[in-house]
Order: sequence, then C-alpha cells, then structure tokens
Amino acid sequence: KISFENQVALVTGAASGIGLATAKAFAQAGAAVVLADVNGDNARAAADELVEAGYKAIGFRCNVADLGEVEAMVNKTVSTFGRLDVAFNNAGVQNVLAETADTTPEDFDRVNAVNLRGVWACMKYELQHMRQQGSGAIVNCSSIGGLVGGAERGIYHAAKHGVLGLTKSAALEYAARNIRVNAVCPGLIWTPMVEQMVATGQKEALDAMVKGTPMRRHGRPEEIADAVLWLCSSAASYVTGQSISVDGGLLMR
Ligand code: NAD
Repeated sequence: KISFENQVALVTGAASGIGLATAKAFAQAGAAVVLADVNGDNARAAADELVEAGYKAIGFRCNVADLGEVEAMVNKTVSTFGRLDVAFNNAGVQNVLAETADTTPEDFDRVNAVNLRGVWACMKYELQHMRQQGSGAIVNCSSIGGLVGGAERGIYHAAKHGVLGLTKSAALEYAARNIRVNAVCPGLIWTPMVEQMVATGQKEALDAMVKGTPMRRHGRPEEIADAVLWLCSSAASYVTGQSISVDGGLLMR
C-alpha cells in the first residue's frame, strides 16, 4: 500500500478538479498536505474540510504566475510542516479556441504564465528546498496535449509540450541527487475546467473526444490522483523523467 506517512505534499491548483482530488488522496495516504490555489478562499475551505476529517492540511492563496507568491508558498510549506517531500505542480488554465492566425499575444501570455512559467517557477523553488534536503519527488501536470498537436489549441498544447521539456531536464539534473521528476498526461477528465468548456460551446468536440477514447468515457480526477501518488511514492523509486498518460487509451494508437 502506498503511504506518505511523515511526508509533506504540496499541490497547486488544489481548490478544484484534479488538484483537489490529488490533495485529498495525499491526505488519506498520511501526508501533511498544502493546498495552494489562486482562489485562496476555496483552497482554505478544502483544507479546513480535510482537517475536520482528521487529516493534516493547510490551504492558502498562491498565483503560480507570480514568482514572489511561489517562493512564499514553498517557504510557508516548510515553515508550517518542516519539510517538502512531494509536489504536484498542477495549476492550469484553458485557452480560448482560435486558429493560430487569430490568436493574440495576450492569449499566449495568459496561458503560458500559468501552464508553463508557473510550472517552472514552482519547480525552481521546490528544487531549491529539495536539493538542500537531499530528497524529493515532483510530478508536473502536462496533458495529452503535451504529446500531440491540437487544432485551435496551439498555445495550450505548446505550454503542455514545454512542461515535458522542463520535466525531463530537471529529472536529468537531479537524478543523482535523490530527486525524481515526472509528469502525468491526463486525457479528458471530468472537472470544472471541462464543465466550463461545455458552457463555452465545446460540447461537440468533447463528445467526439469521448467517442475517440477506447474506453468510451471521460476519466475521473481520482484516476489522475492515483497515478500521481504512485509516481511520487517509493513504489516508483526507479522512475524519473517519464510522462504517464492516463487517458482511457486515447493516445495508444
Ligand atoms: P480546474 O479548473 O478544475 O482546476 C484548476 C485549478 O487551478 C483551479 O482551482 C484554479 O483556481 C487553479 N488555478 C488557475 N490558475 C491558477 C494560478 N495562476 N495559480 C494557482 N492556481 C491556479 O481544472 P482541472 O481540469 O482540474 O485541471 C488541472 C490540470 O490538469 C491543469 O493543468 C490542466 O491543464 C490539466 N489537464 C486537465 C485535463 C482535463 O480534461 N480536465 C486534461 C489534461 C490536462
């Protein structure tokens, strides 16, 4: 059984969807969990619920696009719980649907500030601490969009490809220093982000994605959490620089 007893886990974008499910799973596996989200109220509320259920958790605001807030997040994690063992860099935003010729610099910067620069910023400060501690495991949230192109989603896909580049590079740098860095590539997972895509007229495209998924269903946030916990655990002690697709078989062909 995977256990994170006596370990400290940090999750970004932890107030919703995949991040929330993963924070809960870490808590249930014995970790003290930091739930960080740009929506600080929701992060605090989610942490309070975990504490009421008898788990160790704290929630606070962190906008991963802001370097100062990211540094403060890692410092607060260590000052609250004494260490940082595992981190799931999950915070992300969707982009507007538009073909490349019609996208704007604002679209590019908004998506990359969170989905790529945000992951880099989190890794920067997490690794500074883990390097000093002499141990750690990081999982970054990419996407199947990090492995293939996507019409009208180029900026999002570019950022998610970039996350895999950051993951492999850091994995190389820290492999001999007892720090592993991996990524998870979710397929279509039913979360508020996807609900928002339905609300903005993307239902047909999403239905087509489910049809094209060999398992013929969308995934659940808990199914991503299971993969993240495994990658962070000692059960994956010889695994680094990898990305695992959790996508109902979507990309196997
Ligand atoms: P979600 O919208 O339910 O949750 C994302 C969370 O991130 C929200 O709580 C939001 O407040 C937070 N967030 C947004 N910007 C932030 C910022 N600047 N700083 C800190 N927190 C911020 O979405 P989700 O579906 O759970 O997505 C989580 C991750 O999974 C994202 O990186 C997303 O790209 C990725 N992903 C999702 C799917 C899917 O189908 N749902 C598929 C592939 C990849």
